[in-house]
Amino acid sequence: MSVPAPSVLGAVDVPALHLLLAARRAELVADLVAYAERETPSDDPVLLAKGLAYLEAWLTDRLGDPAGRTHHEAAARGDVVVLDYAGVGDRLTLLAHYDTVWSAGTLDAWPVRVSTDGAGDVVSGPGVFDMKAGLVQAVWAIRTLRAAGVPHPPLRLVLTGDEEIGSPFSRPLIEAASADAAAVLVFEASADGGAVKTARKGVGLFDVHVRGVESHAGLDPTAGASAIDEIARAVRTLHAATDRAEGTSVNVGVLRGGSRPNVVAGTAEASIDVRVPSLSAQDRIDALLAGLHPHDRRAAITVTGGWNRPVMERSAPIAAMYALAQAAAARLGLDLPETAVGGASDGNFAAALGLPVLDGLGAVGGGAHARHEHVSVDGMVERAAVAAGVMAAFAV
Ligand SMILES: [Zn+2]
Repeated sequence: MSVPAPSVLGAVDVPALHLLLAARRAELVADLVAYAERETPSDDPVLLAKGLAYLEAWLTDRLGDPAGRTHHEAAARGDVVVLDYAGVGDRLTLLAHYDTVWSAGTLDAWPVRVSTDGAGDVVSGPGVFDMKAGLVQAVWAIRTLRAAGVPHPPLRLVLTGDEEIGSPFSRPLIEAASADAAAVLVFEASADGGAVKTARKGVGLFDVHVRGVESHAGLDPTAGASAIDEIARAVRTLHAATDRAEGTSVNVGVLRGGSRPNVVAGTAEASIDVRVPSLSAQDRIDALLAGLHPHDRRAAITVTGGWNRPVMERSAPIAAMYALAQAAAARLGLDLPETAVGGASDGNFAAALGLPVLDGLGAVGGGAHARHEHVSVDGMVERAAVAAGVMAAFAV
């Protein structure tokens, strides 16, 4: 399996797909508004379950019954549903999270609105950009291919409800659903100017624990081995690994230790957030953490935690997916920029498996996690056409 060459898109009439989508523009907007009017905060299992049930009914209405369906129950989080749709050729996996960062009741003060500004029609509301419009675009891309009689590959749609809290439940399911895919399309929002995301930093969350030896600070100080002294040295070593030019940051954000001023500290802990732009930087941090050793041999250092989201490097398969998407956009006379971003997504998991990943294929707009969150309606139609072109390329 490999990514089709961009020239394959010569055989796909992307402009015709775009015209079909443009004719259904009002329905795309209506679908987004209806979906966004269902609140789905990551921390509200009841609302998440309702939102997921709504989505499944809507998907059946728009795409018919799936050929396969598995439902994975998460305790106290959003469930994961994996839907398979039959097609021709190698299978694609499509990732979409339905949870948002917005708490229950946000809609009361900030209802979903369709308006027109200088840039054209805009839909605003909680979760529209990250990433409810992306799923609507994906579904309409599939629907339009079918309406046009253009073959699409087998598609596996993965709906997850814990992306905004780091995907603790869905991660293994995302990996399993992606592992044997020809490519993975992530309908997360685009970056500035509609750019797709061809590189994302990796995020590591670690704790350094130091065990020292307690003693009386005044009467018998040499009997003690200070955990505070050890953690202070470790903090200096860790912060020294920050490399701004490279894009690596190591931040000890929380420090705890000791019991009282007149006791040589017996324990200390540091909590660390690490961001890395490359696998080599990730390896360097791993080696640094593994190599932390106490200055005083009576103390001991252990490290727990790990890479919450592995780095997504601009690998050859990712570059090939970008070239394909760029060719689809070019058929519409559109520029499709690419960019590297600091934030992570579920695309990081698929990329870590070495797969061709196209991330940021979703909405064009802005204001993720902010009160001005909005999407462009023209962008929805165009992106759905680009996604349709990319999907069709795998069935040529
Ligand atoms: Zn998102």
